[in-house]
Amino acid sequence: MRLILLGPPGAGKGTQASKIVKKYNIPHISTGDIFRKNIKEGTELGKKAKEYMDKGFLVPDEVVVAIVKDRLMKDDCKEGFLLDGFPRTVAQADALDTELSNLNVSLDKVLNISVSKENLIERAVGRRVCKECGETYHVKFNPPKKDNICDACGGELHQRKDDTEETVTKRIEVYLEQTKPLIDYYSEKGILVDINGEQDIDAVFSDIVSVLGSGE
Ligand SMILES: [Zn+2]
Repeated sequence: MRLILLGPPGAGKGTQASKIVKKYNIPHISTGDIFRKNIKEGTELGKKAKEYMDKGFLVPDEVVVAIVKDRLMKDDCKEGFLLDGFPRTVAQADALDTELSNLNVSLDKVLNISVSKENLIERAVGRRVCKECGETYHVKFNPPKKDNICDACGGELHQRKDDTEETVTKRIEVYLEQTKPLIDYYSEKGILVDINGEQDIDAVFSDIVSVLGSGE
């Protein structure tokens, strides 16, 4: 099963990714993680990526693609993978297609977890994080037993400063604008599946499973 997972920040992508890789027994390939790993281990690609990041530049597509390709060549990806955070652009998607066809494989599905802008804003603005242990709550959907006190450790809850309505709106608009061409790209290829992310975690996952099959 070769999959890409798309979804705006705050749509619950991380939670679904963990459930998918567990059920289908495929590795979760998060570009953020493999970048950090390459940099930490001081690989050639890691050094290249770090040069750009240190200067405050975006890592160019060719380096990003090389890092992902290197990861996809590992044995554990033979039967499939779940890509998360890649591709971000149509150029990267094209490069991925080329790499996969060189390996004689192709993507099965691109899962797009959709949540309306209004809903994403409500989720983010109501989020509260424990200052002590990092546990997250939501004033409406997952409130702590006592106002502003962490159930787990008794610490004080706070709102992250990038969770204000203004920053969240901006973050989501930037995401939607950047992702639109990618959504069009995969939808033209006929492998894009929209998943309704405005349901509880289990219902979202069960929709995903009905798209992907039982995995047997
Ligand atoms: Zn806590």
